[in-house]
Amino acid sequence: MSLMTGEEYVESLRKLKLNVYYLGKKVESPVDNPVIRPSLNSVKMTYDLAQQPEYEDLMTAKSNITGKKVNRFTHLHQSAEDLVKKVKMQRLCGQKTAACFQRCVGMDAFNAVYSTTFEIDKQYNTNYFENFKKYLAYVQDKDLTVDGAMTDPKGDRGLSPSKQVDPDLYLRVVERRPDGVVVRGAKAHQTGICNSHEVLVMPTQAMKPEDKDYAISFAVPTDTKGITMIIGRQSCDTRKLEKDADIDVGNKNFGGVEALTVFDNVFVPNDRIFLNGETEYAGMLVERFAGYHRQSYGGCKVGVGDVLIGAAALAAEYNGVPRASHIKDKLIEMMHLNETLYACGIACSSEGYPTKAGNYQIDLLLANVCKQNVTRFPYEIVRLAEDIAGGLMVTMPSEKDYKNREVGKYVKKYLVGTASVPVENRMKILRLIENLSLGTAAVGYRTESMHGAGSPQAQRIMISRQGNLGQKKSLAKAIARIEE
Ligand code: SF4
Ligand code: FE
Repeated sequence: MSLMTGEEYVESLRKLKLNVYYLGKKVESPVDNPVIRPSLNSVKMTYDLAQQPEYEDLMTAKSNITGKKVNRFTHLHQSAEDLVKKVKMQRLCGQKTAACFQRCVGMDAFNAVYSTTFEIDKQYNTNYFENFKKYLAYVQDKDLTVDGAMTDPKGDRGLSPSKQVDPDLYLRVVERRPDGVVVRGAKAHQTGICNSHEVLVMPTQAMKPEDKDYAISFAVPTDTKGITMIIGRQSCDTRKLEKDADIDVGNKNFGGVEALTVFDNVFVPNDRIFLNGETEYAGMLVERFAGYHRQSYGGCKVGVGDVLIGAAALAAEYNGVPRASHIKDKLIEMMHLNETLYACGIACSSEGYPTKAGNYQIDLLLANVCKQNVTRFPYEIVRLAEDIAGGLMVTMPSEKDYKNREVGKYVKKYLVGTASVPVENRMKILRLIENLSLGTAAVGYRTESMHGAGSPQAQRIMISRQGNLGQKKSLAKAIARIEE
């Protein structure tokens, strides 16, 4: 088997015995939970699209490990063209879900771990690269969804991992055995973990020699004993729990959820370990993963932005003002911002180069510029969407009132915009904009744009490192004819 259908993916998840909690209760069947299901549907889209001939070129690739056709979400990029296709695939998935489809974190982790383990083995004669190749062949063959897990809770940000009052605030090795290691700790903000078959853990930052036990990378199935997922709250999340809720949810079929994921004495066998104590390589792994994920946002956020811009344009039409010049100008501005993000995603991909292991790495400077823009532009796009939508987006009566026998007639009468447009359509579009700007999807489109793949300051540090200010000064001196 190399490609699963969407339905097979859902059934494969049903077989997992995940330990998931939401709102203080254990979730017996995450697949059927109304809060989790839309997020599962978003991942399912990555399987469904791969089955469609028109998307085959974007959604699938030929594995360099097995030579077989695989889903691009499990692929090691073999060229700059592959990197470009990755971004295009993410834009497509964003357009089809208007949500986070979660599978990119694993893809970005594969590519970072592959090239880093190659370099560790060269120096230390370890076996991590072979371990990882074997693991990835398994993932590709089964077409699994793997959650990349990087961000530790971090406790006191001013202290290194081994100096924390509670040593578990960074995930660490607590026992070394002949057949593997036992780890304890947690990973925060784990997008899509409860929709994944496997979790691939990486360190969260560069490590010093005294943090040896924290320099650990490995992969285990998500239902391994000791793993607990505690789903995060999202603004407006319980609307999904309301009976027959549809319009009010904003995006009924798709979404994304995150979880605090706890590893309480989890055993990892030797052949699933990809870094174990080589502290100087933790930074390389983090930098490469973050670079890929900063590229990723130049695709996924753009696809979601396409939906939001379309929704704003429809809201203007339904409000009766599609020809107002200021509305047209705001829509142009939204498109300009959105395409600027895309341009950055494509640019850092086109400038990709081969790593020592042979897979392709994006241009780090341009990927960081991409993500820095992502920390800002979606906020401006949302602001403009809210401007166009009008205040009704946040004061509109509920779907239940719209359907109520007593007051429904008033809602229908007074929520009319353009007479030819059914009130229900106007409500649907306004709720979609609400969902993306301040509802459940705002987690992915706004705050994740700020903090996902590293907070803004992390990119500024990389830009200062990669920006080559010295060369720029030399250029200025040459033009100004300054000799030293
Ligand atoms: Fe993929 Fe974007 Fe979600 Fe990250 S935020 S997993 S890049 S869809
Ligand atoms: Fe993310």
